Amino acid sequence: MKIIDTHAHLQSEEFNAILDDVINRLGIVEKVFLATSYVNDIKKACEITHKYDNLYFFAGIHPHYANEFKIGDLDIIENYLKDEKCIGIGEIGLDYFYNYAPKDTQKTLFSNLLDLAIYHNKWVSIHIRDATKDAIDILSTKNNLKAIIHCFNGDLDLLKLALDKNYLLGIGGIVTFKNSLIRQNITNVPLKNMVLETDAPYLAPVPKRSKTNEPSFLQYTLNALCSLVGAQAEEIAQITYSNSLRVLNDK
Ligand SMILES: [Zn+2]
Ligand SMILES: [Zn+2]
Repeated sequence: MKIIDTHAHLQSEEFNAILDDVINRLGIVEKVFLATSYVNDIKKACEITHKYDNLYFFAGIHPHYANEFKIGDLDIIENYLKDEKCIGIGEIGLDYFYNYAPKDTQKTLFSNLLDLAIYHNKWVSIHIRDATKDAIDILSTKNNLKAIIHCFNGDLDLLKLALDKNYLLGIGGIVTFKNSLIRQNITNVPLKNMVLETDAPYLAPVPKRSKTNEPSFLQYTLNALCSLVGAQAEEIAQITYSNSLRVLNDK
């Protein structure tokens, strides 16, 4: 059995001293896709993916950093898209929970980066927090977009749009949290649209909740999914693995 972690931040400083160990204990996780948040973060992720065969990266500007975005950054991202280890643009999106940048600034950047992905026919890894309505408004206007909604929160309006547009939905540690919306609504997410993710170092699944999350913990999310959706681990692993390979094979 093998699975893919479609969203992790192994370039984060939390992993500086332990990255070799984390990679050596990946277990059933065969590949990891790194998500990035700002220009220097992309640079570090790119370097790391060139050291380890089984790592790939998305080049993106997180909405938290929308204020610092400069127009030349688009050229920088465009250049990374040519890198053999780059699989698309991400993470990008809207975050009204922290609201580090004004909503309009976030929306403009998100829309521009989606257009860049569509222009280059690249995948995107999308972050949406407390901004579902505006995200749906923007995504509704975009055609021919290949997208993963990372850390899907279980919102049914967003799910409807995602299924209409054949996006993939990233299921992470939150599905193991009691009372989470995604846990309540997980049976509405078809396996054919599902991929797995950790968002390491954040959002460690139960029973590792207080720990620094890492890709090997994805097995706990997989186990929780088995009982929640009533499928065998092998079946979920196999379907989510081939869904994730779509991103790699079509980069
Ligand atoms: Zn995110
Ligand atoms: Zn992330």
